[in-house]
Amino acid sequence: MRADPRDFQLVTPGTLESVLALMDREPDRWTPIAGGTDLMVLYAAGQLPSRNLVSIWNLPELGGIEVLRDEVSIGAGSTYSDLRQHEVIAREFPLLAGAAAWTGGIANQNRGTLGGNIVNASPAGDSLPALLVYEAALVLVSANGEREVQYTQFHQGYKKHALQSGELIRTIKLPRKFADHFAFARKIGSRKAQAISKVCIAALAKIENGAIEDVRIALGSVAPVPLRLNLTEDLLRGRKVEAALASLAAASVTQLIQPIDDIRSTTKYRAAVAANLVAEFVEALCAAQSAGGRFVPEVLARWNQAASAEATGQILSCCGSRAWAEQLARRRPLADARTLLAVSGEIWRSLPPADWLEAFRSHPRIGESSARAQTPARSVAWSQQEQGRVANAHDDIKSALAEANRAYENKFGYIFIVCATGKSAAEILAILRRRMQNDKETEIREAAEEQRLITQLRLKKWLGI
Ligand SMILES: Cc1cc2nc3c(=O)[nH]c(=O)nc-3n(C[C@H](O)[C@H](O)[C@H](O)COP(=O)(O)OP(=O)(O)OC[C@H]3O[C@@H](n4cnc5c(N)ncnc54)[C@H](O)[C@@H]3O)c2cc1C
Repeated sequence: MRADPRDFQLVTPGTLESVLALMDREPDRWTPIAGGTDLMVLYAAGQLPSRNLVSIWNLPELGGIEVLRDEVSIGAGSTYSDLRQHEVIAREFPLLAGAAAWTGGIANQNRGTLGGNIVNASPAGDSLPALLVYEAALVLVSANGEREVQYTQFHQGYKKHALQSGELIRTIKLPRKFADHFAFARKIGSRKAQAISKVCIAALAKIENGAIEDVRIALGSVAPVPLRLNLTEDLLRGRKVEAALASLAAASVTQLIQPIDDIRSTTKYRAAVAANLVAEFVEALCAAQSAGGRFVPEVLARWNQAASAEATGQILSCCGSRAWAEQLARRRPLADARTLLAVSGEIWRSLPPADWLEAFRSHPRIGESSARAQTPARSVAWSQQEQGRVANAHDDIKSALAEANRAYENKFGYIFIVCATGKSAAEILAILRRRMQNDKETEIREAAEEQRLITQLRLKKWLGI
């Protein structure tokens, strides 16, 4: 049944001291409301148990992100947008910045707070696994003073936590010792945005001399509380980084989690996905190790910080589609190279064909080095490298390619796109002739897939990996 607004009261004392005094005077009567993105959903559903709300939104004492020598102190009232836009959070705590970026939509990110996500205590809360692996500590405040609680001790059961009557979270403290760690995060939901996690992971690792010196893995949505996988970590710590570890780590996950069936997913699915995500993390660690340990390439760290238009411009030539570049820039900060590549592919596949065609137009024809006047110089240089083997082909193959290109364009209406890197002119000609047999629908999908591969390779070049 819908709630009647007349049954509720909202007071806004305006300072932390007066909020705490009110909560102390009338214990358990007042429910603090910050951004309201959880409480107002309950209200709208007629399920908000408290009738008396005290606003802590915009309280200066709960705002701000302070960067100290050894730690970052985040006001509990900081919104997801505050977290996303903060340079040090993006650079040193990409798992938290990443979780903030995929929590709800922009409106929700402008309103939802980190303190609210913690106290709402949903096992699916996106920022919670990140706080676990970053060794967060919470400063709790009441009219009687302050105390500090390790975040690992905060959640005590499904929706049960360590806050006592009259207490608020004032700040979330993160030690500044993870900037060099490899960071990995994934959220599995029913769609890309505005979806609660079916399973999510946040993980960190540090490699010294080819072995895993430090490792931290946390999962959301697989137990009544966000879960740190201590046993899996013990299994990995001290081991040499190698592909065989992935299945070993994945096999250890099932005994540690307690997933449930609910409206979003099933026990079986969650268990399988949790194990897969842990394996994926270890595989990514191996890939990062073989890429020379450059876990978050500097160019990516800088790009994460750039102004939106600049960030769009910087990556445009990796693909050629402005919609792709704009959407990718909007998804920043991206935790690492692997995430960048995954998000790039995800966005590309979701675009309509008009955007694919825009990207196709940024390429010269196969066998021709001249591009359109407006094509960026870097894109022209990349095309030349990609078609390196075609440039050295015999003239008769080149003219056969030129003729096949014309026939292709007459049939499909756009230039032939193929990921030419490493392919000879003869191989490309054979592919082109095969694809001439495609119908229009099949062909645009095949061309788009080739463009996705080209983009992946260009992104790697851009990142220097
Ligand atoms: C459309 C939509 C999409 C969403 N998508 C996601 C998502 O993808 N991932 C995700 O994790 N969440 C998601 N959420 C949930 C929500 O946005 C987050 O949990 C948010 O962080 C809650 O913060 P808030 O300030 O709005 O909390 P509020 O609703 O104001 O409060 C939530 C709870 O926290 C308590 N509280 C708030 N601040 C404090 C404090 N400083 N000290 C003590 N108690 C406090 C309140 O009393 C209340 O019990 C979504 C919500 C909506 C409406």
